[in-house]
Amino acid sequence: MDWRWQMSNRLNSADELARVINLTDSERRALSAKGLFRVDITPYFASLIDPNDPLCPVRKQVIPTDREMVPFQSMMEDSLAEDKHSPVPGLVHRYPDRVLMLITTQCASYCRYCTRSRIVGDPTQTFSRAEFDAQIDYIERTPQIRDVLLSGGDPMVLAPRLLDMILGRLRAIPHVEIIRIGSRVPVFLPMRVTPEFCDMLDKYHPFWLNIHVNHPKEITPELAAAADRLTRAGVPLGNQSVLLAGVNDSVHIQRKLVHELVKIRVRPYYLYQCDLVEGSGHLRTTVSKGIEIIEGLRGHTSGYAVPQYVVDAPGGGGKIPVMPNYVISQAPGKVVLRNFEGFITTYTEPLDYDPHEIQHQEALIARRPEPGQEGVLALLEGERMAIEPEGFGDTHARGGGEHRLRSGDIAQKWQPLGVGSIEVHKPRERLASGNNETE
Ligand code: SF4
Repeated sequence: MDWRWQMSNRLNSADELARVINLTDSERRALSAKGLFRVDITPYFASLIDPNDPLCPVRKQVIPTDREMVPFQSMMEDSLAEDKHSPVPGLVHRYPDRVLMLITTQCASYCRYCTRSRIVGDPTQTFSRAEFDAQIDYIERTPQIRDVLLSGGDPMVLAPRLLDMILGRLRAIPHVEIIRIGSRVPVFLPMRVTPEFCDMLDKYHPFWLNIHVNHPKEITPELAAAADRLTRAGVPLGNQSVLLAGVNDSVHIQRKLVHELVKIRVRPYYLYQCDLVEGSGHLRTTVSKGIEIIEGLRGHTSGYAVPQYVVDAPGGGGKIPVMPNYVISQAPGKVVLRNFEGFITTYTEPLDYDPHEIQHQEALIARRPEPGQEGVLALLEGERMAIEPEGFGDTHARGGGEHRLRSGDIAQKWQPLGVGSIEVHKPRERLASGNNETE
């Protein structure tokens, strides 16, 4: 129960693991291979592994097999293009109002499917004091950031004083409203969640924590006690799990998982589709399996226990929610929906609904600017008419250049009335003045 002892007695070689687990030939080959993602397993987490079951779901998460060395189509080193969205090393600014701040590359144990295996586990890639300064400086001069998520690696393995310092500096930034940590320490090393650690977090509210449990076997009395200490320190807890073949790709395992989580006051938050990251090929499932799992949860258990299933877009598009289709058909005034049992019903919409009635109240709320990221909402709010792929206009001009029907001011003919900025509404002015000349 001493977290420092756990960290310094982690198991990482075939010889060490063979003392407590009957390794398969495939596992032995992987453990002696060069260049594989780092292996380190806390004795506590190793004790959850069934030593005689090569299919044990805990084992598959942390002990490599030689299947990890098999490449697969579309695999990438940085499948979420995080480094592309990084204004300074370790800071990923992908969404309008929040950032991901990577503050270490070290973890308590290493997951075989880690999306950041390109840097995680490698002490030479870890972040320096100067890089923390650059990350914090970027946040300070970017007022649109209201939410900072600390991750890594695992921020909870950082030296306590260093984590305290980083949290303190973030809390001192007036526009940072909430601070979050994503951590697997409560799962790999629950004894790290000491009362002193919780007291430290308590200074930085509103502070949120997401843990990472994939299978009900990981929910032990030790994890339950750690979750209880965090909850009593006022830290709201969520869980994000990754959908993994042979680990949790089952409606019934997922149902058991979410039920056990809510019993320890952890809200299932995300179920991730496994990323296209090197080494994870054998752990990936189809997306349809994820949809089937949500089909088996939504309605079948409390809404509170149903995570959002997401595909984190390869190439850096961010999280895309995916779910079964509950809308069967629509017509003006009617929406036909189905529930989890297959019951089909009609929602009758009001025909006199006035979406403008709220405008007076809405005007009292300051809008948050989202420069360049207004997205589909901008289409709905009338700020733009279309979103075009890069080069769309040039492709459709077919190299023809300007001619009498598409030159100069006449290009205004594609400006939709009442959409976008006022100054380009010349067609409306012409209409108002009755001047229809095509000068
Ligand atoms: S705890 Fe998170 S960062 Fe660390 S190896 Fe696992 S998935 Fe990667």
